[in-house]
Amino acid sequence: MLRRATASIRSQVVILMYHRVFEASSDPWELCVSPKHFGEHLELLRRHYQVLSLHELVRLLRDGQLPKRGVVLTFDDGYADNLWNARPLLEKYETPATVFITSGSIDSPTEFWWDGLQRTLLHPKTLPKHLQLSVQDRLYEWPVTSSEDRQRAYAAIHQILQPLKPSNRNQVMNDLLAWSEMDPMARSDYLPLATTELIQLAQSEFVDIGAHSVTHPLLAGMSQANQTAEIAGSRQKLEAILGCPVDTFSYPWGNLTSETVEIVKAAGFEIALTSDGKAVEVGANPFRLGRFGVGDWGREKFKQHLNSFFLA
Ligand SMILES: [Zn+2]
Repeated sequence: MLRRATASIRSQVVILMYHRVFEASSDPWELCVSPKHFGEHLELLRRHYQVLSLHELVRLLRDGQLPKRGVVLTFDDGYADNLWNARPLLEKYETPATVFITSGSIDSPTEFWWDGLQRTLLHPKTLPKHLQLSVQDRLYEWPVTSSEDRQRAYAAIHQILQPLKPSNRNQVMNDLLAWSEMDPMARSDYLPLATTELIQLAQSEFVDIGAHSVTHPLLAGMSQANQTAEIAGSRQKLEAILGCPVDTFSYPWGNLTSETVEIVKAAGFEIALTSDGKAVEVGANPFRLGRFGVGDWGREKFKQHLNSFFLA
């Protein structure tokens, strides 16, 4: 009991992890928060919490002084809706946020592979009854008649594709799109940011840009040289586009080893965020700060979750 009472008044900062501000019809990974709900989140945060930018958090951590109910907002991946749907609300509520960009997806005409996979299998479209896929010389087969079948195939293929090299994964995605007879071009509301949009997003006084690797890989399974190319490469590309320093990083899939942390430090970043659900306290390692994913919650549900994050 005593521990709990002490915990509730500890100085803590909760870092929230968003991906998209978008009204989705199918969202298996809960990446989308509707614009209405996002506005409600910001209104509540402005009223009852101290919202900090990530750079303010870096400074406060360095000084060993954190507020009692601090919150930092972040977005991962770099969807175009961060400009069109999130930026206007961040400005309306004067709330800072950092957007982490997968630099290799800037200007991409195709969707992030996880969205493309969702579109081919979970979209309510008539599909052939069977799916056969050859992945790196292995043949896989799934029935896809019922929606349960489709869900199962989706989850299995997600797991198979996640560790693949981009070139191998693109090959499988092309096979899948051909099999499903879908347009390989992205749905207009599933696009990553284009260069011009990224520049426009960064121009907002309430938005900072951070790096999120080049190709969104599982960094922990890669060689040191390849991790460096992903981590330092994303920083270089973003700095070249924006003409200003990019010194914050978020680990794709929250996946890292201690070697990854050293590479992030060596690449000149000041802070790096994982996806471990833990609040930031004085003395926290700035290269392993935890975050909490946010779902498409209304005001009350958001408030409840937020309270539970602070007690974590
Ligand atoms: Zn990501």
